[in-house]
Amino acid sequence: ATVLAIETSCDETAVAIVNNRLLRSSIIASQIPVHSRYGGVVPEVASRQHLETINEAIAQAMEQAQLDWGEIDGIAATCAPGLVGALLVGLTAAKTLAMLHNKPFLGVHHLEGHIYATYLSEPTLEPPFLSLLVSGGHTSLIYVNDCGDYKTLGETRDDAAGEAFDKVARLLQLGYPGGPIIDRLAQQGNPQAFSLPEGKVSLPSGGYHPYDASFSGLKTAVLRLVQQLEKQQQPVPVKDVAASFQDTVARSLTKRAIACALNHGLDTIAVGGGVAANSGLRQHLQTAAAAHNLRVLFPPLKFCTDNAAMIGCAAADHLNRGHTSPLTLSVQSRLGLTDVMQLYH
Ligand code: ATP
Ligand code: MG
Ligand code: FE
Repeated sequence: ATVLAIETSCDETAVAIVNNRLLRSSIIASQIPVHSRYGGVVPEVASRQHLETINEAIAQAMEQAQLDWGEIDGIAATCAPGLVGALLVGLTAAKTLAMLHNKPFLGVHHLEGHIYATYLSEPTLEPPFLSLLVSGGHTSLIYVNDCGDYKTLGETRDDAAGEAFDKVARLLQLGYPGGPIIDRLAQQGNPQAFSLPEGKVSLPSGGYHPYDASFSGLKTAVLRLVQQLEKQQQPVPVKDVAASFQDTVARSLTKRAIACALNHGLDTIAVGGGVAANSGLRQHLQTAAAAHNLRVLFPPLKFCTDNAAMIGCAAADHLNRGHTSPLTLSVQSRLGLTDVMQLYH
């Protein structure tokens, strides 16, 4: 199926057209310059920016794909999880287009979209596989059984990986969003300069959870380290701190993902979300996967962070199976991946 998809769950106004796993056009209008003044995403500002940008983005996506409305089989938009006001802009635009052009309408779960990003560069990939989803709001290991059929095997108990990058960047006064900035600095630093805690999750029965992670202790350890250096009136070696932090996150995620794949008999790990762009994670995971004869897939950088192509790819798969959403579907700030099928008739 050919789908026009809209993504407005956070700070990217994105519209794309995909034909199943084939990208026809992709427009991403980032609001990062607007929000970086505030050091993070301001929900009301995000909604207003989406509203101002959405119509132009839709027109550009149609223009870039060189398609007319008769060639579009369905209209989709992210409906959960995310910022309610932001989601509403995209969802309302999609419903309006669906009514106007008499097309099926589909709401899409944002995280299912991040999982589907891998198919855009690996169209022959088929489930089952393990998804390592590492984004600004989530850090999960997901057993992908089929379209709409997911089981979360591990997750963070506190901060998401991307959130940890953003918070550490803020305490080092590096700017927003922190991930790409830390990544760049880390490549010039020594990852062994400082020993930081990995953040293990204890089990009541003793030992540690094999797949769950915790990143808030790591963030606090970086804060303590910086405070200590400042107290001793020593300059903070920002590149070494960045490299040590990034290395700790990358090793933690790699260890859990590899153990999870091996224990569940899965031969492929598909990484998704903004932190999938991280060079340290890419290196660690690729090396470890090769040592265990596992395949690891990273989407191209532009499909790691938020985009509408991944939403369209998920929607096309649902539409091919006859799944459509009622026009009464509403947005939800929180929704588990196990509840994806609630979105469809
Ligand atoms: P969610 O998908 O959970 O709702 P989100 O959509 O805000 O959250 P994404 O857009 O997938 O998250 O990713 C944004 C996050 O990725 C930010 O936290 C950002 O710092 C992080 N990020 C982006 N590039 C990199 C990088 N190279 N290294 C580490 N983190 C990165
Ligand atoms: Mg974003
Ligand atoms: Fe996202």
